[in-house]
Amino acid sequence: MNKISIKLQQKESPPTEKNIDAISNWLMLFAYPMEKATKKPCFPFQEKLLKRQQELGLKTVDTSPVVIDLPNKNSSHVSYAAIEASISSFQLLTLARKLVAAHSPTNPAQLGLFVYGFNKVESERIAEALISATLAAAADMPKFKTEKQTISRLSKLSLYGVRVNHGFKESFAIAEGNALTRRLSILPPNKLTPTEYLKEVKELARENKWKLEFYDEPILKKKKAGAFLAVSQASPKADSGIVRLRYTPKISTKGKKVFLIGKGICYDTGGVNLKPANYMYGMHEDMQGSAVALGVFLALTKINFNRPVECWMALAVNHIGPKAYKPNDVITASDGTTIEIIHSDAEGRMVLSDTLALASKEKPSLIIDYATLTGACMYSIGTSYSGVFTNKKEWHADLIKAGEDSGERVWPFPLDEDFDHMIKSDIADIKQCSQESGVDHILASRFLQRFVKNNTPWVHMDLSSSNKKGGLAHIPTDTIGFGVRYSVNLLLNNYLK
Ligand SMILES: [Zn+2]
Repeated sequence: MNKISIKLQQKESPPTEKNIDAISNWLMLFAYPMEKATKKPCFPFQEKLLKRQQELGLKTVDTSPVVIDLPNKNSSHVSYAAIEASISSFQLLTLARKLVAAHSPTNPAQLGLFVYGFNKVESERIAEALISATLAAAADMPKFKTEKQTISRLSKLSLYGVRVNHGFKESFAIAEGNALTRRLSILPPNKLTPTEYLKEVKELARENKWKLEFYDEPILKKKKAGAFLAVSQASPKADSGIVRLRYTPKISTKGKKVFLIGKGICYDTGGVNLKPANYMYGMHEDMQGSAVALGVFLALTKINFNRPVECWMALAVNHIGPKAYKPNDVITASDGTTIEIIHSDAEGRMVLSDTLALASKEKPSLIIDYATLTGACMYSIGTSYSGVFTNKKEWHADLIKAGEDSGERVWPFPLDEDFDHMIKSDIADIKQCSQESGVDHILASRFLQRFVKNNTPWVHMDLSSSNKKGGLAHIPTDTIGFGVRYSVNLLLNNYLK
C-alpha cells in the first residue's frame, strides 16, 4: 500500500547557511524579479543564485527551472525559479514537477524547500505545490523487473519561509489517494483482475474502517442489472460486480451524502467489436475511473471529511468469447430501460448505467462519477483537460473554477435533450450509442443521465487526461490519477451549492 512516511518540518524564516549546508538537495521558488542583496543578503547565496539567472539571460518571467551546485562544503544541488504570484495552479504544479525532477537522479533522503518574496497566502500556495510535486514523485509505482529497482529514499522535507498549522495535511492525503489510483491503474491486467482488485479494496476497507458490500453476479441478477451483466457475461470467471464502500464521519453522520462512482473495466478488449492492436494496448487502465473514485474516497477519509461518503466501483472485464454480448442484442437494465446494443466497445456506459441507477435509488445529495469513457472526449479536448458533464447547468462555472484552483483542469460539455435523437432506437427504449456520431462523449453522458434517478445532482467526468506521456501538472508518471486532487478541492471548498 502507498502509505506516506515522509516527515515535514516547517520554519517561517529563511534557511541559514548552516541549514543550507546540512541538506544536499534544494528546491527554491522566489518572487519575480529576484531581489538584489542590499547591505546584507536576505538568505544565503542570494547573490550567487541571482547571478546564475543573469548569466542565463533570464530577463522575463521564465518557468523553466535553473539548476546550480552551490559553492558550499556539500555542493548543495539547487533547482529554482523566479515566478509571479499570479501564476496559474497548473503552471505552478508543472514547474514544481520540473524542479523535483532535477533531483531524482540522486534519489535524496531529504529535500530542502524554500519559498521567498511572497505574502503569506501566496507562500502557502507555492509551498503546497512544491510539497505535492515532491510527494507525487516519491510514490513508488509497480515494476516487475528482475533487476533490483531503486525505491524512493525520501523521508524528510524541510520547508523554509512558510509555516502553517495544518501541516499541509490535505496535500498528504491527496498524495496518498493519487498514489493509490496510479498504482492500481499501472498494475497489469493479469495482476489486477476483478478478484484481485476486490482483495485490495477489502484490505483498504479493513485498514480504514470502511463498510464494504460486494454486489456479485447472483446479487446483480436479483437486482435485474442486465446492462452490467451484459458486459460481464463473457468472463470465464464470475468475479465481476459492484463494490460499495461507506465512510461515516466521526463527528456528525447527518451531513449530505456524497457518492463517488467509477468505471472499473480491468481490461477492455472491445468485445466482439474487437479493438485493433494500437487501441487495445494500455486498456488495463480502463479501470482508472474506479481507482480515482477510490483515491478520492481514501483522501477524504484521511482528512476526516465531515460528510458521509460512499464509493461505488463497477468491476468487470470486457472479454471476447462465445457468451459475449453483441450488436443488435436488446438488454434490459435494472430500472427496466431496454437498450439496443450497437457496439460492444461501449461497455463503460453499460456497467455504469446499472451502477448509477442502483446508487441514485439511495438518494445521495450528490453523485460524481469517473470513467475513461470515450475517445471522442479526447479528440475534442485533448489529454491535458478532462471533460465534465452535469445535470445542473448552473454548476459549470464552479466546475471550471475547481479545476483552475487545483491545477487539474476540466471543461464542461453541453447535455441538452435534443442530442437524444441520435440514440433513438426503433426496437428498444434507447440505443447504447450511435453508429456514426463524433459527439460520443455527449451521447454517452445523455445515456448515463437517464439512469440517474430522483433528480440527483450529478457530475460525470470523462477522464481524457488519465494518461499523458511525460506526466501532467505535478504528476511525473504517464498514468496521472487525474481527478483526485480536483475532487477533494471541489468537495472541501464547498463548490456546487
Ligand atoms: Zn470499451
